Order: sequence, then C-alpha cells, then structure tokens
Amino acid sequence: MSIRLRLTLWYSGLLAAALVAFGILIYAIVYQNTMGSIKTRLMNEAENVDVASTFNSAGELRILIRTSNAIDVSIAAQAVNYTQDPRGRIDMQTSNLNALGLKFAYPEFDGIKTGRYHAETLKGYPFVIYEKALVLPENGAIIGLLQVGAYTKNEIVYLSQMRTILWIAGLASLVLAFVIGLFLARKALRPIEMVTEAAERVQSGSDLKLRIPGESQDEIGRLTRTLNHMLERVEKAYNVLEESNVAQRRFVSDAPHELRTPLTTIRGNVDLLEKVWSETGDSDAQDQQNGQDSVVVKPKLSPAEREELSREALHDISDEARRMSRLVNDLLSLARADAGYVVDKEPIDLLPLVEEVARRAGFLPRKAEWVVGPLDALAGVRVVGNRDYLMQLLFIFIENGFKYTPAGEVRLEVYRQEDRVGLSVADTGIGIAKADMPRIFDRFYRADESRGRTAGTGLGLSIAKWIADMHRASLEVQSSPEGGSRFTVWLPVDFSECPDYGIMEASVRPAVPDSEQS
Ligand code: ADP
Repeated sequence: MSIRLRLTLWYSGLLAAALVAFGILIYAIVYQNTMGSIKTRLMNEAENVDVASTFNSAGELRILIRTSNAIDVSIAAQAVNYTQDPRGRIDMQTSNLNALGLKFAYPEFDGIKTGRYHAETLKGYPFVIYEKALVLPENGAIIGLLQVGAYTKNEIVYLSQMRTILWIAGLASLVLAFVIGLFLARKALRPIEMVTEAAERVQSGSDLKLRIPGESQDEIGRLTRTLNHMLERVEKAYNVLEESNVAQRRFVSDAPHELRTPLTTIRGNVDLLEKVWSETGDSDAQDQQNGQDSVVVKPKLSPAEREELSREALHDISDEARRMSRLVNDLLSLARADAGYVVDKEPIDLLPLVEEVARRAGFLPRKAEWVVGPLDALAGVRVVGNRDYLMQLLFIFIENGFKYTPAGEVRLEVYRQEDRVGLSVADTGIGIAKADMPRIFDRFYRADESRGRTAGTGLGLSIAKWIADMHRASLEVQSSPEGGSRFTVWLPVDFSECPDYGIMEASVRPAVPDSEQS
C-alpha cells in the first residue's frame, strides 16, 4: 500500500472517529434536552391534575381526575384504581385518550410512591408516560396510580431526522475528506516521488555524474542535498576504485614486461657463453643479440679473446641479475602495499638514522659530488616510524639524485618546523619536465629523459610514496626542466616523550616555488 493511501486512510479513520464521537455527543445533548423538557412538562402536568375520590351507588370508591384547562392536547392522563382490584381498573381518562380508545398499560399494585417514567407505543402512537401514586389525603393510603402521557411522535421524528442528517453529513464529510486528503497527500508527496524518480534514473544509468535536481529549503530539499552529497561520495569512491583498478591492471601487465627485459639479456649471454665454450665451435660467424649490443663470435677464438668475451657476458649477466633482484624486491614492496601491509613503527631518533644514510650514500656509485648539509636541526627530534623503510625512502631519493645528475652535486638537507621535520635531497641534475611531474609517482613511469639513458624500473618513487603514506608524511617535489630537483619528505614530529621539543628553535625553510605536493 502506498504511503499516500496509508496517510489518507489514517487521517480519514481519525476523522471518522472524531465525527462519530461528535455526532453521538450532539445527538445525546439534543435527545436529553428534548426528552428532558417532555419529562419536566409531564411532571408539572401531573402536579396540576386535580384528583378527587367519591363513592358510587354500589359504595365503591371511584377516582376522579380533572386536568387544568391549559393542558396541551398532546398530553393525556388516566387514573387507575386499586381499591377494588389489585390488578387495577381504569376509573377515568382524559377525553383525548378516550376518544382514540387508547389505554396506558398499568402495572398491578406495587405500592410505588415516587414518580417514574417509561416509554410506550399504543397502536402506533408513541408516548412517554409519567406515573405517580394516588394517595388518600385522610389516611395516606395508596388508592391508585396517576398516569400522564405525552404524545412524542414529533420529537421522535425530529430525533430520527437528526440521526439521518448526522449520518449523511458525517459520511459526506468523510468521503470529501478522503478525496481531498488523497489529493493533498499526492501533492505533498510529489517532491518525494520526483526525488525517487531522479534517484532511479541515477541508479539505472551509468553516469555517476547525475544529480537530483531541486534543492528547496524544506525537508525534501534536505533529503535531496543529502542524496546528492552521497552520490558525490559514491562517484569519488568509484573513481578512486576505478583508478586503482587501472593502476592494478597496468601493474600486472607492466611487471612481466619489465622482468622479461633482464631475462632476455641473461639468456642471450648464457647462449653466447655456451657457444664460446662449446668444444666444436661454430664454423660460421653468428650474431648474438644482446639488447642493443651486437657480439660477433668468430670461428676460431684465441684463448684471450674467449676470456675477454666471457668476462663481458658474465658482467652483463651479473648486472641484469642485480637489476632483476632489485625489480623483484620493488615489486614485492608494492605487492605488500597493495595487500594492505602495515609497517611496524616505533619512536626513532632521526639524527642517527640520517647520519647513517649520509654515510652509506657516500659509497654509492656516482658522478656528482655528495654534500651533506648541517644536520643540527635533527638533534633530539624523534618520529614514529620504521627505521628500514625510512632509510629506503631516503636512498630512493639519493640514488635518483645520483642517477639523474651527471655532473654537479647532490645535497642532503634537513629542516625543522613547528610540528614536522623535512628531509630533503636536492640535486643539480637533469630536472623533471612539468608535464612529467604529476606522473613520476606512478608505477613504472619513467620520464622520456630517463628512458634508455639511465637504468631504472620506474618503481622507486611509487615505493617512496607508499612509505611516506605509511608514516603519515607528505612528499614535496620541486624541479625545473632547466635542471635541479628537490625531493622532500615531511614527517610529523613525535612529541610523546619529549614535551620540551615544542619550544625548540625551528629552522627556517627556504621557500622554493613551483612545488608538487603528494
Ligand atoms: P626510476 O628512477 O627507476 O626510473 P623512479 O620511480 O624512482 O623510477 O622515478 C620515476 C621517474 O622520475 C624517473 O624515471 C625520472 O624520470 C624521474 N626522476 C626521479 N628522480 C629524479 C631526479 N632526481 N631528477 C630527475 N628526474 C627524476
């Protein structure tokens, strides 16, 4: 059953109950008034009836009654005598009663003294009758019963008409109220229907950008606004999911491809070694493809040439194996990140960690100079984090710095602000084009400048981003295509055990324009 119908039924039911109660009340009041006035009149008339007693020729007591002249024609009286017969005998009736040949029914002698009323219909004539005992003034003996009756046809018709009117009026108002109620409920619920229709359109269509129109200030407007906000959130969540799906698919399709390259090189070199060291040797010259390198195996190699060739092949194999192992490690880190792996964290003193990184970075192969700026700002600073992962993050920045800086310097700097600390690796290398900036944290993304010129997997910065996220840290990249890049990770300082840190002097961080935050 629709809400509209339910509402209307409820309200019509309530209205019907109210109308019935109201009708009963009105009818009861009118009935009481009408009948009450008749009864009062009857009692008054009974008081005005003159009663006399006389003895007839047979010596029996007879009761005589005389009504006042002003008595209403609709009022009749009769006197019942009990002196001769305990079942009673009508001694006298008013002429209007006599003329119609009617008799009020009377009881056997029951000795009542107080007056009483009852209703009676005689030959189709309705009466209300008042009865009171007739008492001999001399000795107080009850000799009979006086019955004064009022003809109530008019009142009964009047009351019956009133009942009919009340029924008809009640039913008519109920039907009218039901129809109007249905119409009003429909009108009131129309906006909800519109919202539902719009929501259905959104649900059945594929366009998540659809919004429900009309945002009035009433309850419906509130509902619409809430639904629209919900849709907005659903759309955002869907987009995030879709993006992550796309990234996932790209990851799955890119990973084997990236693994195949070193494998091909290794296999090529192993084939070469086999041929070089095979006892028979080939008589024809063969070309072995090894990436872009082309190696020609001559039919008869001198031992020195064979040794030289083997050393080169082994060197290539070792390089590629290292690259592959690194790639596999990176893939493992990212797979863990995707699986929702949460790193163990503990409070760490940052200064020793950064000093250790700075020391080890000095051993990395590089062409640029390695400069470590003052690390004093880190004295006593702690962060909640994972030591190994934080070191990995810094090494990603530093190795990139070395990789993409053919000459110049790579510098490690630290900054302290109120509640965060920045670890920054700046280089004077090839820089990053503006168009590449938004994508460098994507998996397997390598800017064109880097492809083919430097070894790399395009996974380093994705891992750095994941590590930063795990530490609730933000990443900042500043770079210009003319040269020079700066990667900074901002870590929240842990104040839990060192309440004095808050008043430590914060070093001022130079503002560098054109930065990319992640
Ligand atoms: P990889 O270095 O293995 O290619 P990364 O994810 O570490 O992968 O980096 C993604 C890309 O971002 C790199 O290919 C490179 O184009 C660019 N990039 C990262 N660091 C630097 C840097 N210090 N200078 C210039 N370009 C950089």
